[in-house]
Amino acid sequence: MKFVSANGTPAGPVGQGTWYLGENNSTFQREKDALRAGIQAGMTLIDTAEMYGSGAAETLVGEAIQGAEREKLFLVSKVYPYNAGRRNIFRSCENSLRRMKCDYLDLYLLHWRGSVPFAETVECMEELKRRGLIRQWGVSNLDREDMKELFAAPGGDGCATDQVLYHLGSRGIEYDLLPWLRARDIPVMAYCPLAQAGLLRRGLMGSPAVKQVAQAHQATPSQVLLAFLLAQEGVVPIPRSSRAAHTLENAAAAEVKLTAAELAALNKAFPAPRRKTMLDIV
Ligand code: NDP
Repeated sequence: MKFVSANGTPAGPVGQGTWYLGENNSTFQREKDALRAGIQAGMTLIDTAEMYGSGAAETLVGEAIQGAEREKLFLVSKVYPYNAGRRNIFRSCENSLRRMKCDYLDLYLLHWRGSVPFAETVECMEELKRRGLIRQWGVSNLDREDMKELFAAPGGDGCATDQVLYHLGSRGIEYDLLPWLRARDIPVMAYCPLAQAGLLRRGLMGSPAVKQVAQAHQATPSQVLLAFLLAQEGVVPIPRSSRAAHTLENAAAAEVKLTAAELAALNKAFPAPRRKTMLDIV
């Protein structure tokens, strides 16, 4: 359950997010450097969307990948739900490619469910594949019932991922979505893996459980959060950073191997819900 680039390079276990990046002239270069540092450290999976900064994040990615070997990268973008039908999707995808200065995407995602029927979106995604504009397609923010509906549509089982919110402080997907996807060998891309630097869950970063594990590994709380996700089979976290130092720290989280006792301690401090909860989104 890995993402593999066009030349067969498995994407590193940690990817790079880009929400809010590329929007500000004064930080553009620093953000570009951060993405490049990540690529060099093996974070070849880069996630973006036509939504982010109305294309500004895709433009930043296009700049950051100059000089990198395209076939080794695994570039992901997303289409707005209202563009995910026959009328707009081809133009949307071409615009993303133009901004990203490349001629194909490795993965194209439906950003969230809208009013375009799944069957139409799937048909268009398959058409994009045939035209060579994308290699694979997937979805985002779909819960298990939505996934079942998607799979019931013709070709719906060709979906390559579901990108959903998942971090130590938000574990609702472990109840039913994650097992359902695992049973079908579909990897999950975990967005907001750092709970947006802890903002989404008060007390997460500074919790005694996280701090203790961090101390034991001479790691940072951010690395512990990523290491927790990396310990879950079939999960690829995509942290975003605008600073190379943080990006490299995130890449190095792959070296932090949590013991069963540490996972149990984190589990106790931030248990997964024992019944169905609404899919968390931002
Ligand atoms: P994250 O959980 O990745 O948190 C980002 C924040 O963490 C930034 O403030 C960043 O600040 C900080 N940070 C990153 N690394 C470190 C570190 N090592 N130490 C301390 N702070 C750190 O939030 P996002 O919302 O950005 O989620 C990640 C990605 O997931 C997005 O960028 C996007 O690509 C995707 N996403 C997809 C969604 C969807 O609907 N499909 C929704 C939301 C996100 P700094 O820049 O200073 O490092």
